[in-house]
Amino acid sequence: MPMTEEALTKMYAQMGIGKEVYTYGEKILAKLEPRFREIDDIAEYNQLKVINAMQESQVSEACLLGTTGYGYNDLGRDRLEEVYARVFRTEDALVRPQITCGTHALALALMSNLRPGDELLSPVGKPYDTLEEVIGIRPSRGSLAEYGITYSQVALLPDGSFDYEGIRRALNSRTRLVTIQRSKGYQTRPTLSVKRIGELISFIKDIKPDVICMVDNCYGEFVETGEPSEAGADMVVGSLIKNPGGGLAPIGGYIAGTRECVENAAFRLTSPGLGKEVGASLGVLKDFYQGLFLAPAVTASALKGAVFAANLYEPLGFAVVPDSRESRHDIIQAVTFGNPEGVIAFCQGIQAAAPVDSHVTPQPWDMPGYDSRVIMAAGAFVSGSSIELSADGPIKPPYAVYFQGGLTWQHAKFGILKSLQSLVNKRLVEKRQLGL
Ligand SMILES: *Cc1c(COP(=O)(O)O)cnc(C)c1O
Repeated sequence: MPMTEEALTKMYAQMGIGKEVYTYGEKILAKLEPRFREIDDIAEYNQLKVINAMQESQVSEACLLGTTGYGYNDLGRDRLEEVYARVFRTEDALVRPQITCGTHALALALMSNLRPGDELLSPVGKPYDTLEEVIGIRPSRGSLAEYGITYSQVALLPDGSFDYEGIRRALNSRTRLVTIQRSKGYQTRPTLSVKRIGELISFIKDIKPDVICMVDNCYGEFVETGEPSEAGADMVVGSLIKNPGGGLAPIGGYIAGTRECVENAAFRLTSPGLGKEVGASLGVLKDFYQGLFLAPAVTASALKGAVFAANLYEPLGFAVVPDSRESRHDIIQAVTFGNPEGVIAFCQGIQAAAPVDSHVTPQPWDMPGYDSRVIMAAGAFVSGSSIELSADGPIKPPYAVYFQGGLTWQHAKFGILKSLQSLVNKRLVEKRQLGL
């Protein structure tokens, strides 16, 4: 046994990973080399893309300092928005700490680009839970519905493909904006590749060229070499406490897109007439820049974790989405345990691997807005950050956990091994299943 491997086994033992789990993990890992190489190649490409954007925009030391008050002439803020526009290959971008989260960024993009009498269309089925109240699918104060903006939805076909005929029928003279969610979120449909999003947008624009196509890009950034904005999307929207913040951004959201779409959003975020001119960046710019710089590598770490988990759990008889071989278009991995105990043990294992709050034991609780108890594991430096290793599971059939993130591959690996160890300790997985 090479010295480092011996030292590693010892270290893992000290961290609560038994020899059986460690050896099983190594056996799985040995087969993943080609997948990991592919992920590294994408990260390499995206790393260069980000550096190139920063160089072309001449990011300088002064850009890392912030402003206060109105934030007029905030060089670093304006330059960062230029960098985002280059990375996403769009005309403009709005990247602000005043955008509080992903839902806020999406609501802002929608509310600023739709007017009373317009219709919003989702051609990919039900949108992310929190958007239901934004749109007014579930009645809410200030929803689009309250402003006389109607909504229509076309579900994906049972095989996951687009219902082109249904979409053609749904497009009408009032359809102003089409919203396309890239990631499956917490559903079981497949995540959309940039290529498929491009095909969908071409189809829609052939029928109605002036419709605005917006992509909810959450969890998808830097997973592929191109972004949906290079495949025809007029706007891509996301959260900085997911992929593009690289784990360092402490808050924030972005909208990158056409000059007009971004200006509409800026006028809504601040005020008509003020737009992008105001909005002090306070002290966050250095983390926004550095986080974006790290984002391709961090996203790659999270992706490796997701692929590792799929390959670790699938042979043990648990259904995994995506499966062990599928190509990846977001960083979310679902594992189905079929019973509450499995969900709880998994989440407790992830928590026990955290750098922060590893000593607390998560339990299922009645979370506002959910129709069942939910257990969540997160020991994050940035509260709620889901680019950091995190997991959550609703305590209801099919008893699946959704997990994502990992700022480093090494931490993702440790967390996943820890989750398996937790299942083994509770006899939810038998040692002999690990093939020893
Ligand atoms: C996370 C997410 C959102 C909402 O973002 P929050 O920051 O949680 O408000 C919207 N859509 C998708 C697909 C997401 O993954």
